[in-house]
Amino acid sequence: MALVMDALDAYAALVAKVDAFFGAAARRGADLACGAGCSACCRVELSVSPVEAALVERAVRTRGPWEPAAEGCAMLDAEGRCAVYDARPLVCRSQGLPLAYPEGTVTPGAIRGHAGSAELSWCPLNFRRRPPVSADVFDARRADEALALVNRAFCAERGRDPLERIPLRTLAARGAD
Ligand code: SF4
Repeated sequence: MALVMDALDAYAALVAKVDAFFGAAARRGADLACGAGCSACCRVELSVSPVEAALVERAVRTRGPWEPAAEGCAMLDAEGRCAVYDARPLVCRSQGLPLAYPEGTVTPGAIRGHAGSAELSWCPLNFRRRPPVSADVFDARRADEALALVNRAFCAERGRDPLERIPLRTLAARGAD
């Protein structure tokens, strides 16, 4: 039990770190159009790791059913808001920032800049008035690695496959269970 709590605590700490990074960029005046009601990055079908799914599922069950948006992420409600905002997956928390990925891993059309050899990608609604500064650049690969470690610890305790991916659509349906 203690290990499960440790893994969930580690995940919470990782989430807090990503949120703090985003918050610092916003306070610095980074040219971000992100805000309540914008769901431009939610027009996707996502699947998540088991540790992320644990928090999303808890949030879904607590909230109960909602009227879903016509298209896009299963967690998006009809008003274009995330139904599980406080428990949203890690990937959703850095969207909008300039995300740095290793060279050769970003789809060519999505590359908007470079930081050293890293390729940068960001929402086309952002950084229209001024380009990002280096402090705005979010190391997406490092975040992915940190999440993989936390997820591995969580899955080891639960006897789960750390490579399992759980569609958000599957989790959304559990609100009606
Ligand atoms: S989980 Fe929430 S924030 Fe993430 S894509 Fe879905 S609706 Fe958007």
